[in-house]
Amino acid sequence: MTETVRVRFAPSPTGYLHLGGARTALFNWLFARKHGGVFILRIEDTDIQRSSEEMVQGILDGMHWLGLDADEGPFFQSSFLEQHHAAARRLVEAGKAYYDFTPKEASDDRTVRSRIVDRARAQAGSVKEQNPFRDLAINEAIRRAEAGEPAAIRLKVPQEGASRFDDLVYGPQERNYSDVEDLVLIRSDGHPLYNLSVVVDDIEMRITHVIRGQDHLTNTHKQVLIYEALGAPVPKFAHLPLIMAPGREKLSKRKHGEVVSVTTYRDRGFVPDALVNFLALLGWSPGTDQEIISRTELIEKFSLEAVNKSSAIFNFSEKDPRDWTDPKALWMNAEYLRAMPLDELTQLVAPQLKRFNLWREEYASRERDWLARTVEMLRARYRTTQDFATMGRPYFSDDFEYDPDAIKKNLKDERLKDLLPGLADRLAGVEDFTHDATESALRAYSEEQGVKAGLLINAARTALTGQSVGPGMFDIVVTLGRQRTVERLRRAVALIP
Ligand code: GLU
Repeated sequence: MTETVRVRFAPSPTGYLHLGGARTALFNWLFARKHGGVFILRIEDTDIQRSSEEMVQGILDGMHWLGLDADEGPFFQSSFLEQHHAAARRLVEAGKAYYDFTPKEASDDRTVRSRIVDRARAQAGSVKEQNPFRDLAINEAIRRAEAGEPAAIRLKVPQEGASRFDDLVYGPQERNYSDVEDLVLIRSDGHPLYNLSVVVDDIEMRITHVIRGQDHLTNTHKQVLIYEALGAPVPKFAHLPLIMAPGREKLSKRKHGEVVSVTTYRDRGFVPDALVNFLALLGWSPGTDQEIISRTELIEKFSLEAVNKSSAIFNFSEKDPRDWTDPKALWMNAEYLRAMPLDELTQLVAPQLKRFNLWREEYASRERDWLARTVEMLRARYRTTQDFATMGRPYFSDDFEYDPDAIKKNLKDERLKDLLPGLADRLAGVEDFTHDATESALRAYSEEQGVKAGLLINAARTALTGQSVGPGMFDIVVTLGRQRTVERLRRAVALIP
């Protein structure tokens, strides 16, 4: 590739940044990075009623969090309205577009009617119904429009032939002109429409590759016509497969809510690189079965040719709240949590502890090492940094819940009413409160009492953490320290039926 690659992400700020949008941004970003190109952010905010500043901010925050900062922009489409009008006007003057003076109601009606008529004619092999204003003399049309007569501007779609482009993902595309109506470029109220604005802006920004969702594939024919009418080079197009929710319905902000919002992943403790890795595999594959792929490797391996045509599946179920998103995404995040330098992970866990009011100032000073060791002990079991504050609560607070199943399983033996306080006394007296010393003390005690060590270990785990699974019991004991261990063992007697 000799010319500099220039790509753009062009979201409409009518909602937060969702996974589909983030995936489009990511593929553009990867392509730009791979080819030493430029990644541009253009906010398409011309639908004033539906756009909001808050949504714009949400998109910027989401992209920044994902590490997808733009090289140029953000630009706002609403500041280019003049260029959109100028382009439409140029097309009128060149006879490639025309003023349509049909009154609005009649025009709405005509559009519906003409579609039906066009379809019937197309089937019969004849040309579509012509708009009566299509061939009005240009000078007269301009005079009437300048005199204030309301008019839409429509593109004059050639009557014969076909529009063609070669999509880098979906291959050659062709559509007969006879199937494309004379599309509106500027509405009679003066509002430029998407197909015109997007083309004018992409020309102005010298975009070389348009990478976006597959739902725009059919618009592309219209856009190619506009490029050609404007005499501008047509960029390359690459459409990305849809992302489907289970049940093969299209993933949607309205229907699927928070699980598709990028901020949810940030707040619930995803590592940006893990979400990037997950999104990269929604519709693209490195050609091997490698799944954990670092950002640098993604840049190296990414190519539009390896984007799949078939829809990507986003597989979340709402049955188990722990599986609140695609289990593969959670698995991937867990892998990143495990592999990351402990220091970095501890820095990501800290804000979660703060959010859940579990933060102590000492964690930044005297207890810094304790915090790091605890994070290290827990990281093999958790999938998000939020898990440290929710499932990990017993390590950071005395106020935690006991899992009823764990109580049923591990605290049902009546003998524990004496054994737990006995164990507490024993541990209170252990000289060096280490893993090995506390383990020997427990084993000695179980032998004396003639019970299996397992009974005490399981009961103690539930007494200390409210759970039946967790890290090694003596690691828990050491982490909690003597005082909390002893207190919790005594406190748990009340739970024994
Ligand atoms: N604003 C359009 C969207 O959000 C952009 C489409 C495009 O990339 O051309 O779908």
